Amino acid sequence: MRILLVEDDELLASGLSSALTRAKHLVEHVNDGEKAINAFQMSEFDMVILDLGLPKMDGTEVLKVIRQKHHVPILILSARDATKDRILGLDLGADDYLTKPFELDELLARIRVLERRQSGGSRNLLEIGQLTLDLAAYTVTWKGELLDLQRREFTLIKKLIENPQQVFNRSQLEESLYGWGDGVESNTIDVYVHNLRKKISPECIKTIRGVGYRIGKLD
Ligand code: CA
Repeated sequence: MRILLVEDDELLASGLSSALTRAKHLVEHVNDGEKAINAFQMSEFDMVILDLGLPKMDGTEVLKVIRQKHHVPILILSARDATKDRILGLDLGADDYLTKPFELDELLARIRVLERRQSGGSRNLLEIGQLTLDLAAYTVTWKGELLDLQRREFTLIKKLIENPQQVFNRSQLEESLYGWGDGVESNTIDVYVHNLRKKISPECIKTIRGVGYRIGKLD
């Protein structure tokens, strides 16, 4: 998942970023409320982890602005003595909260719950035709056989499956596969598409000439 981490405590943020990256998420970190809003205007995220005590713009304000336009799952982080903020946060539409200090394992577990809720079932499986993605284990099965996909190949096919009607151009796909500041070579997406067609089937991704890609045949 692409996660926006909004946290002004740099030490905590860097610990969380590494843990989330190890759990195969793509993390963008910003350290104040204004940058969080800007990030949201520029980019799409699958989840937000939002500290409430932030410089420039309070976390509850950030929450309000994001909620006006997005249904993205939001998990708030708050100080132990900030019960009022926490309640306000939940009233403003946060999906869950954690009180600092918390265990990393607990954060990862809460994220999995939100992810499951988002994908609309108690099982973490995304199925289309003969292809099954296990969103918790990051594994892919095609016609009953486990495939060996790289993380970005996994993310790419997941993005296409989740939006079966949509045609994505290269820059939209690059955005969901890469963090800011990652150098992306111009033909990267084509390479991943090529790999996926080789590993799954030649028809699994359809090229829409002059526009981009969408999911193809998976029976
Ligand atoms: Ca803070």
